Amino acid sequence: MSQSLSHFLHARRKAVREKLCRNRLDGIVFSTMSHVRYLTGFTGSAGIFLLGADGDRLLVDGRYTTQAAAEAAGIPVIQVQNQNQGIAEAVQALKLKSVGFEAVSVSVETYNDLRKKMKGVTLVPLGDELAGLRAVKDRREKAVMKKAAAIASAAIAALAREMRPGWTEQETALQLEWIARRAGAEQVSFETIVASGPHGALPHAKPTKRRLRHGDFVVIDFGVKYRGYCSDETCTFAIGELTAVQKNAYRAVLRAHDDAIAFVRAGRTAADVDALVRSTLGDKYGRYFVHGTGHGVGLEVHEAPRLAPNSRDVLTAGMVVTVEPGVYYPGRWGIRIEDTVFVKENGCELLTGMNKKLIVIE
Ligand code: ZN
Ligand code: ZN
Repeated sequence: MSQSLSHFLHARRKAVREKLCRNRLDGIVFSTMSHVRYLTGFTGSAGIFLLGADGDRLLVDGRYTTQAAAEAAGIPVIQVQNQNQGIAEAVQALKLKSVGFEAVSVSVETYNDLRKKMKGVTLVPLGDELAGLRAVKDRREKAVMKKAAAIASAAIAALAREMRPGWTEQETALQLEWIARRAGAEQVSFETIVASGPHGALPHAKPTKRRLRHGDFVVIDFGVKYRGYCSDETCTFAIGELTAVQKNAYRAVLRAHDDAIAFVRAGRTAADVDALVRSTLGDKYGRYFVHGTGHGVGLEVHEAPRLAPNSRDVLTAGMVVTVEPGVYYPGRWGIRIEDTVFVKENGCELLTGMNKKLIVIE
């Protein structure tokens, strides 16, 4: 990466300033830590970023003063004891009159307290205006996400070479995480799913002591964080020989996955991608596809846009989204095949790297 992180942070703040401050607001209080990190570079677990039309402030408690000053270069860092009091004082210092805040992450208690402390300031709840804030990734984010996906995909590939029938789901998950952590993953981006046999029919199953046995499908949904960014990928492996019914179902899900990825490009609606998956699965399998087709990925593993029947999102170049069709037969087995792609003007680029041809573990 030729340009430094601070170059990108500056560009992101500039875009928010232009988009949100121009007309009716002269400042925004950011309290979701992924937004704070996205706009300032600060990686701590608590803090407030006040973005003003003519100046910004990063408010942190005593644990983070040194770290914030180092990470959020160019933004004045203020150490606060009482967060709301700190916000009120910073708003006053910057002479802000109309201030937006994140409606989803501010409690009623905090809101009432802020109103009391900021007499004469209009507080404007922001919802949809911020939903797409991080959806389009810049070059630096793309490079980091590619690396996150590469670490996770290589770990899944290594696991596929090692794993054997008789391993428990928990042992399998632990081994996968061990491989990924040794290869540079900071942590997992969500609780690893290893769901074998009937557990595979639960889209968000937790790994258990159940042992992998012949005739199982095992659904492995795994992601890591690298420099704060998430990866997300699902492989479904066969343990030994499968029935013809199982193999046909796998082929159907793979076709839906492949068709959708071939269809993804800037300008397509998220709902149309989802509809294509459902039509490829057809009535036979579509009835057993019980969730949306995909979601945006970034600093959080689930973020905008949303690929689902009722989504109104439109794909834009630079978005990073998953495509993850599946079928789930309660009490029997399940299949999910998931890749994460980078949306381009004329198509998309795979970030995750496992080949999705059925792998048989003997
Ligand atoms: Zn996943
Ligand atoms: Zn996913």
